[in-house]
Amino acid sequence: MAIADNLSPEQLDQTDFPAYSPPAERAAEPKPAALSEKLYMVAAVVLPPVGLFAGMALAWQHGFMGWSYVAMFVAGWILTASGITIGFHRLITHRSFETHRIVRAFWMMMGALAVQGSPLVWCAVHRRHHSLSDQPGDPHSPHLEGEGFWAAIKGFWFAQVGWLFSGYWASPELERYVPDLLEDRLLVVVNKFYYMWVLVSLAIPSAIGYAIDGPWGALMGVLWGGLARVFFTHHVTWAINSVCHLMGSHDYESGDESRNNPVCAFLAMGEGWHNNHHAFPTSARHGLEWWQFDTSWLVIRTMQMLGLAWNVKVPPQRILDARRVTKK
Ligand SMILES: [Zn+2]
Ligand SMILES: [Zn+2]
Repeated sequence: MAIADNLSPEQLDQTDFPAYSPPAERAAEPKPAALSEKLYMVAAVVLPPVGLFAGMALAWQHGFMGWSYVAMFVAGWILTASGITIGFHRLITHRSFETHRIVRAFWMMMGALAVQGSPLVWCAVHRRHHSLSDQPGDPHSPHLEGEGFWAAIKGFWFAQVGWLFSGYWASPELERYVPDLLEDRLLVVVNKFYYMWVLVSLAIPSAIGYAIDGPWGALMGVLWGGLARVFFTHHVTWAINSVCHLMGSHDYESGDESRNNPVCAFLAMGEGWHNNHHAFPTSARHGLEWWQFDTSWLVIRTMQMLGLAWNVKVPPQRILDARRVTKK
């Protein structure tokens, strides 16, 4: 008999929607990243904005590059950012719904093309964030640099970009944080050949551009559909770590400084309702009010209606009411 069979409906709700994660046993500070790992990160952080500026300089000199490249930027952003939010975040990190293996593989592929690390590393870092949110050991809290103006600036910078150069990324402690995912062969293979996905992420827009405008199109494709798009999705995702732990409303008890921020929600496919998410980490829906824009939820809900997603978790109203700290 499954454990859940012995639980009352109320206990079951509590099981599905545990209160915010209690602080885990303190993990040891990771060893600092090696020089080679830091250099890789420098390339990952610096090359995308270099590509954006090169694209802007060429547009300044030669005029508007054409709508095909705008479309590549926008489509690439929507698909790969959704791969992160629906695939890496809500599906495998928090198991907020289940789906067919082929659909799961599709979202893993889209997430890998966002160039934010392999699914295993991304999930391990993110689970660590939830277990130690805004406390020592949180890989990217903006609140651990002390008091005062400069500490606030330093904290923001660390949460947005600086943490990528720390040992948290280089030593993600996979056995500790994602033992379940290490048993998934698909994820282990994607993890092993992750760098191939980085190349594919740049090669696809380059090839489409070549088909449209020849060698000039290949260059425009890799700059706008590749590097500029990666730059945009990187910083929007990282803003969830920085801005959404600093600015916005704190509507639900979550034991940390997480915030609901509508601008981040719009740009990050619904992930900006970050206080909702910290309060109910296993919910597939982050925009819990009807007006809280959450495209990732709309996609998951549509998949559910089409029979492509099941066991979709959403907290019941009475649990929402019990944990609410701001009055409606
Ligand atoms: Zn957070
Ligand atoms: Zn999360």
